[in-house]
Amino acid sequence: MAVLQLQKDLDKLSRSAKLADAVEDVDNIIDLLTAARERVAAANDPHTTCLTLTKLQNPIKEELDGLNRDLNQVYKAWNEFNKSLKTAFSKDTLPTEHDPMEPHSALINRAIAMHLLREGQFGVASTFINELQPSSETLPTFQSRTQMSPSTSTFHPSSSRSQPPTDTLITDADIPSDLTAFQSQALQSSFADMYSILSALKAQNLLPAINWARENHVELEARGSNLEFELCKLQFIWLFKGSSVNGLPDSQENGVLGALKYGRATFNRFQHRHLHEIQQLACALVYSPNLAESPYGPVFDISAAFEDVASSFTREFCSLLGLSAESPLYVAATAGALALPVLAKYTSLAKAKGTEWTTTDELAFETPLPKSMMYHSIFVCPVSRGQTTESNPPVILPCGHVLARESLQKLAKGSRYKCPYCPSEGIVKDAKEIIL
Ligand SMILES: [Zn+2]
Repeated sequence: MAVLQLQKDLDKLSRSAKLADAVEDVDNIIDLLTAARERVAAANDPHTTCLTLTKLQNPIKEELDGLNRDLNQVYKAWNEFNKSLKTAFSKDTLPTEHDPMEPHSALINRAIAMHLLREGQFGVASTFINELQPSSETLPTFQSRTQMSPSTSTFHPSSSRSQPPTDTLITDADIPSDLTAFQSQALQSSFADMYSILSALKAQNLLPAINWARENHVELEARGSNLEFELCKLQFIWLFKGSSVNGLPDSQENGVLGALKYGRATFNRFQHRHLHEIQQLACALVYSPNLAESPYGPVFDISAAFEDVASSFTREFCSLLGLSAESPLYVAATAGALALPVLAKYTSLAKAKGTEWTTTDELAFETPLPKSMMYHSIFVCPVSRGQTTESNPPVILPCGHVLARESLQKLAKGSRYKCPYCPSEGIVKDAKEIIL
């Protein structure tokens, strides 16, 4: 409920708090002053100067009053929204002993810069990175800058606390050169390309994405990606369904005829890998008047197809740049927002009972995250019932059964073992480590 109310308040804020009105007032004042200056300069006599200045007084006062009125409205709306923010997020600090991210502001800055670039906010990213560069002896840190801003301080709820010992991998001092790298023209133009291709996809224009996939088809194929074919297939269906989907009149270039022409020109190159799907698309031509009832109906249902190709395009594009498909900042903030209530509840309960959280690398409770946010698969050894770790990784036996390495070593007699789950036997060194 709080979220709904917050959304309402945000809508209200964006309706009423228009700085543009205030800017217009200021522009008007500047226009009045400039005109007056020109008049004074042109006439070049004391009488005109006096007259012009006197005439200026009232309009300027009116404009200034208007400016104050407009600004007051903005302030009022901001204050109201701040109140609703406070109501919606009543806990301003988490009841934890220390904030593990506190010494890692450099990493957070990096994630923010990357996120802005991914979103195509190049100007904002550039300002952000510039402001982080050390301008004098003292290195500005993210915490000190963001304390002024209520919207970003949520990432650092405990920034005012005392510093914990810094035993960190990356410190602020390591980052400046790293962050400047984000300003490289190459990276920015890569993201600009991604952004413009995604915008085209949103408008159901597949051609820029198809061109990109064709240019990069060697790398994509090496990754086992079907992106280029999926895009071309969707283009075929989009043409095939014609005016009802794309609004273009049926012609030699659109509708069933257009699709046929497109397929003939394009699908040749995909025959070795996608023959079956191409056959389906071709056979559907026979059913074109009654496609939905035909066996090919589901193939031609493209209600979610543009979103699907957009997300696989983003994934492939980012992976060719060596990046994850989702913005790490988005994932971390969303996962945090989902998991924080449980953490807060756990900590207050633990405090009340006087118990402590003793495990270091493990959460003492389950977090309600969706599958898409689970990155580290875990494996529990069926023999020892313990979770595998980096030092005790899961291993797969030639028979296909998997257990923890230590369990296998305990089971083994000398260099030989007998699988605990099937009759097969073998040599310990044939067991291969599995990387999850
Ligand atoms: Zn076995």
